[in-house]
Amino acid sequence: MARIIAVANQKGGVGKTTTSVNLAASLAVMEKRTLLVDFDPQSNATSGVGGTPGGEAGKDIYRVLLGEIPLSEAIRETPMPFLHLVPASGDLIGAEVELISMPRRESRLAEALRSAEESYEVILIDCPPSLGMLTVNALCAARSVLIPLQCEYYALEGLTSLYRTIGMIRDGANPGLVVEGVVLTMFDARNNLSHQVAAEARENLKDQVYRTVIHRNVRLSESPSFGKPALLYAVSSRGAQSYLELAKEMVSRWNASQTR
Ligand code: ADP
Ligand code: MG
Repeated sequence: MARIIAVANQKGGVGKTTTSVNLAASLAVMEKRTLLVDFDPQSNATSGVGGTPGGEAGKDIYRVLLGEIPLSEAIRETPMPFLHLVPASGDLIGAEVELISMPRRESRLAEALRSAEESYEVILIDCPPSLGMLTVNALCAARSVLIPLQCEYYALEGLTSLYRTIGMIRDGANPGLVVEGVVLTMFDARNNLSHQVAAEARENLKDQVYRTVIHRNVRLSESPSFGKPALLYAVSSRGAQSYLELAKEMVSRWNASQTR
């Protein structure tokens, strides 16, 4: 059964998409069968692995949510053999409102992903920067939430409403939902603020925070324009290597909890 992980934080620009794309690529080179689901109308995860938003007759996650096509028709290959993609397009923005009047409005993604659970070991959902119906669908479909935390002012303040939302979903549609972990992103060792935010996060969130820290690295911001994860664009860059490290830490946590 796949581990379904929602990569969520309602703040924009904190590294959700960068984390989704590069973690998915890292798990794929570790030969974990991985499905990356782009669930943000901005479609940056789609283009980040070389997909075309809205291409291939619009067979994307939006039409899957509407029930027009089965998930299998929206799954595409990527340059990496162990990594598949379900693309998004700008159409998905409509779903935020359209879902409200649909039956089973919170569980449509969960139902759609069920058919893929046997085929993948990990399913990563790149969420949009809001706590609207799309993110609620992702949190209902997921078994856990991976939270990127940017090492910037007010980073922790935004977490309160995210944790509250996670709590609400847990009390309702998805009682098994847990926090997978918190990953510090865009860390800049020369910047005191980065160290402060990191220390504060570890003090408050304890073991939820990964030891691996994602440093600010220009290769990570360049690689999307080549339609490649950093691993394919600049394998030896600090960015690519950090996400590999994160994937290893994650997998070793999984292994540790299985043998416990
Ligand atoms: P989100 O999906 O949360 O909105 P993104 O992953 O798109 O955030 O990141 C926002 C911007 O910051 C993007 O331009 C991305 O390339 C850049 N970025 C993200 N992480 C890093 C990093 N570790 N180093 C440098 N640039 C980064
Ligand atoms: Mg994003």
